[in-house]
Parts: sequence; structure tokens; C-alpha cells
Amino acid sequence: MKRLARLVAVSNRVGPVRGAAAAGGLAVGLVDALREHGGLWFGWSGRTAAAGRARLHTEDAGGLTMATLDLTQHELDGYYNGFCNNCLWPLLHFRIDLTRFERPEFESYRSVNCRFAQALAKLLKPDDAIWVHDFHLMTLAEELRRRGARQRIGFFLHTPFPPTEILTTLPVHEALTRALFDFDLLGFQTGEDLERFCNHIVRAYRGRARGDTVSAFGREARVGAFPIGIDVDQVHRYAFTAPGSREFARMRRVLRGRDQFIGVDRLDYSKGLLRRMDAFGRYLEKYPRAHGKVILLQVAPVSRGSIESYRNFRQELDGEAARVNGRFSRFDWTPVHYLNRALPRRTLAGLYRASRVGIVTPMRDGMNLVAMEYVAAQDPADPGVLVLSRFAGAAQYLPDALLVNPYDGEESAEAMHLAREMRIQERRRRHEALMRRISLHDVVRWRREFIAALRDAPAWRKVVRKPR
Ligand code: ADP
Repeated sequence: MKRLARLVAVSNRVGPVRGAAAAGGLAVGLVDALREHGGLWFGWSGRTAAAGRARLHTEDAGGLTMATLDLTQHELDGYYNGFCNNCLWPLLHFRIDLTRFERPEFESYRSVNCRFAQALAKLLKPDDAIWVHDFHLMTLAEELRRRGARQRIGFFLHTPFPPTEILTTLPVHEALTRALFDFDLLGFQTGEDLERFCNHIVRAYRGRARGDTVSAFGREARVGAFPIGIDVDQVHRYAFTAPGSREFARMRRVLRGRDQFIGVDRLDYSKGLLRRMDAFGRYLEKYPRAHGKVILLQVAPVSRGSIESYRNFRQELDGEAARVNGRFSRFDWTPVHYLNRALPRRTLAGLYRASRVGIVTPMRDGMNLVAMEYVAAQDPADPGVLVLSRFAGAAQYLPDALLVNPYDGEESAEAMHLAREMRIQERRRRHEALMRRISLHDVVRWRREFIAALRDAPAWRKVVRKPR
């Protein structure tokens, strides 16, 4: 196999690469790949600094280099809180109603992408392969090309790609989409996201989509679906060795024979938490025999707390959880246990293992790794059941979960009932099938396939651009 000279990963947040926190999410997929290819990881430092003092920090992190840039508070407000989280995030999750477009925030987004490119360009070698992550950095390749970068640059979108009718409500949709064509490879989570992207190119800009190539704006790019996955063995190991197994035993003692449903999500309106509470209330209403015997543990660490739509959402969720508890609690039983905290990954694995049902019901989600973690943490001899939203990317790869429409409270409530009552043979059959899928589509395959496709993408050629 032809080796890449060096892999450069770029993402808004970088690391951590050491310790328990490093074992999850994007870090899992990237750190190993970066170490294999002697790589560089570039992104925001997570810190703010005064305008003249925003610096580039570089650090050797055992086989890979981390290079991070400070942002000013003004940039953080405009680029990150503003355009990324108040505009692009809801838009990409089909929530036009929550999308707030402010032109100065888009300008801030562009200027942060420009500053990233300026700093990164100085660190690049001619034969590097550059892998850019997520919606924060859609204009990065354009800025790098402007500075003469000719390396292969790939982009992976971790969120869904919305239908063209939704995307074109964004006043700057064309500028953003055009900027994507300065990447050589565009990767999406699922075939459906890829299809919506191709459709957008054809319908909004009269571009062309043939096989794995799209063309528009006088440029061509390769495209593909690369479903992200988890490190299956690691989650299983966490669930079955201390402290995960201690947490499991402790939880079992606390439950005293009750069945636990578990939800683990960032506190985000896309995760379907309000509807989930409502569905759990409906379940308790319809099945009084479950009273005193079932609890819903919802772990939901606060996320993006400085944004108004998130604060409002949190208040509503607090209210909904209190409503269910107020209505159904008894002096010796509280149906909803609700934590606003992040937990160590090993603890989380023990909690998954102790839960009879995993409830993963986002209204829209790029993939959803919690669904896979829940499956991987189960005891194959006595596995729990996964209730999964049809609108999570994961549903396309996990047809053996109990799939639900989260907009249908009755259906979700019924799925909770079916999951709890499911016989052991069927639980085992479904779990085996789910394990096969998540083992096949694991995180190693994800990164290998993306990097291979990036390596195979035609090298960037200078083209004569039409004037803007
Ligand atoms: P998203 O990237 O939108 O947050 P995913 O389900 O794809 O959603 O990934 C979430 C990741 O964050 C998972 O690896 C999950 O284990 C982790 N996570 C979610 N909630 C918590 C929590 N309360 N404590 C620790 N980790 C969490």
C-alpha cells in the first residue's frame, strides 16, 4: 500500500489525546490514524486571548504534533456561538425555525477559517494529506488554495446534510457550497446524506453528479459515504472490567430488581429529549403495571449553555421531567432520574450494561455513537434492547434495533413496552445482528476508508475560475 507522507487533521476542537476523555468520539478515530502517519492535528486551542495575543501553540503529543490557535472573544461569539451553533447546526439538523443568520457572524466564520488557513499553511509539507472535520471549517480549503496549497484536502461532515429546500434558505448557501469544491474529497455519514448533497448540487446550481464524482462551479470533487463507528472492543472491555463493572454492580444494587431505561445525550434540541420524556410519560400512563418497576435514567450534560435556544430548551426539559415525576412518583419510586453531568466513559459503559433498554431517539442526528456504545456494552448472554430513532444516521446501519419515529409519542411508548417485555431469544438474536454491524462499521474502518479515498482522489489541479 502506498503510504501517505503525513496526515494532517483539522477540526474546531483538538484532542484530548491522553487520559480517559481521549477514549471517545472523534479522538478515537483520529489519534491512531495520526500516530500511524506521523501526523499533525490542528485546531482551536479552546482558549480566548486578546486580539494581539492570540497565539499558535505547538506541542509534541507522543508521535503526533498538536498545533492550536487561540481565538478572540469576538471571534468566538461570531464564528462559533454565532454562525456555527446558532445558524449552521440547526440548519443542518433541518431546524429552519431555530436558524439565526447574521451576516457579520458569517464574516467572522470566514475570517476564522482564513486565520486557520494562514497559520496552517506555514506548517504544511508539499505531500501532506489534509483531513478537515465538520461544518466549522467548510471554507478552509478555499482559503488554503488561495495561499497556494496544492495538497490533497478532504472534508468529512459529522452532521446530516439537509435537503436542498432547507439549505437554500441560507442566504450564503452558494458561497458555502462553492467553497466545498476546493476540497478533493467530500465525505458524509450515510448514503442518504450523500444523495441529498448530490441532489442539492444538481438542483440548486445545475451541477452534475455521476458515480463518485460531482461537478459544479467549474470544479470537480470526489464524494462518498463513510459511516463513523466506535471502538467496539474497548467499550465492551470498559463495561466488563473495573470501574465499569463496579458501576454495573452498584447500579444493580440500587435498582433492586427494577428495570432501567437509559438515555445519554448532550443537552441538545436535536436529541429528542422532550419527546422522549413525553413518550415515557405515555408509557407509564398506558402500562400502570410498570409503576414502581421501571426508571428512566437520562444523562444529559449541558452543552452550548451560552446560546439562548439551548437555555430555553433546558428549561423546557427540566419542566417536562418534573411533570412526569410529579404525576407518577410514589414515596418509594421516582420514575425519571435526570443528571446534567458528563461521566467518565468507563462509568458510562457500566451504566449502559446495567440498563435493560437503551433509548436513542434524536429528531435528527448525523450518526449517533451512543446507540453503538449501548450495544457494545451489553452482556451477549442477557442483552438489553436498543430503541432507535429512524432519523439517526445509525438507523441505516442498525435495522435490528427497535426503530421508531420520535415524532410519534404512541409508537415510542409502545417500543419502550416491547423492549422491556422482549423475550431472551429475540434479544439475543437482535443483539448478535447489531454487534455484527457495529463491528463491521467500526471506527478503524471509517478512518481507513476515508484516508484511502483521499489518497486515491485525483490531485488538485489549478482551474480557471469563472469570475464571482
Ligand atoms: P454528538 O456527537 O452529537 O454529541 P454522538 O452520540 O455521536 O452525539 O456522540 C456523543 C459522544 O459523547 C458519545 O461517545 C458519548 O458516549 C459521549 N457522551 C454523551 N453524553 C455523555 C456524558 N454524560 N458523559 C460522558 N460522555 C458522554
